[in-house]
Amino acid sequence: MASSVYIIADIEGSTGCLCAQDARLLNDGWVRACVELSRDVDLVARRLLDNGVERVRVKDFHRTGYNIFRELVDSRVEIDQGYRAGPIPGIGKADGFDCLMMVGMHAASGTNGFIPHTLTSKFASVEVNGCLITEAELFASSVAEAGLVPLFFSGCPVACAQAAATIPNLHTFAVEKPLASSPQTLREAMAESASMAMRNVAGNVYRPAGPFSTIVRMRDGNAAALKMRKRWKLDGDGDTVYFKTADIRQLYCQLIRLAYLNPVSESFLDLSLKTANLAGLLLQAWARYRARSACLIQDS
Ligand SMILES: [Zn+2]
Repeated sequence: MASSVYIIADIEGSTGCLCAQDARLLNDGWVRACVELSRDVDLVARRLLDNGVERVRVKDFHRTGYNIFRELVDSRVEIDQGYRAGPIPGIGKADGFDCLMMVGMHAASGTNGFIPHTLTSKFASVEVNGCLITEAELFASSVAEAGLVPLFFSGCPVACAQAAATIPNLHTFAVEKPLASSPQTLREAMAESASMAMRNVAGNVYRPAGPFSTIVRMRDGNAAALKMRKRWKLDGDGDTVYFKTADIRQLYCQLIRLAYLNPVSESFLDLSLKTANLAGLLLQAWARYRARSACLIQDS
């Protein structure tokens, strides 16, 4: 049985994100989705702790990295918000944990799941060695160096099928949209499923072997792809950007560059992330104010 669990939480596959607008910042759909996401991770983490797990950390991994309301989550649960440069991209360190759970996730760019994307909706598809890659593969492999075994995944049915097809021994729990029952009923079942997964640690760390040939197709077409190729000195033609990497970490880092960075923000990465994290905190203060005004969370 796992004794410590690291949870990566996204919002698209959570019980509160019902349309694309709910995943975007600064609107009341997002505020409601943040509340439901907080309740999802609270119940999953609480169930794990009540069933013998000693430690649970939740990494807030959607957009700004500040979506979960601390006050809605059990005080025993560690909440980690904002992004760090490394050693694990976005996460920093994940030492001291046994296994990885991914909740609220979504399907890959270029597929027909609920709000499908891989890192960013700017990518129409990301094909690696001939197959579309999912965030589940990128995240699970990024924490392999810290020894985390991927154990559980929740998201839309398409996302679950994609993750289970690539990561061995992964337990999945599908949250279909529109919701088949109330958010509370679904998260109860999700928490039960996660706690079952925790009792059956069968797999190993996820570390697919390279080399990798990657073709990124840009949603905005030829001009967007040309800009990316020039910016990062990469090959490709038409609406594609092409690159080769020896291992999955290099692949993930190159995709992060294309999705989120430019050469200037990359060379000042720590400062860029500090600025982005501050903006995330401010946006969350707005969300908290809106959630309190709507009585979705109580004044403390
Ligand atoms: Zn997200």
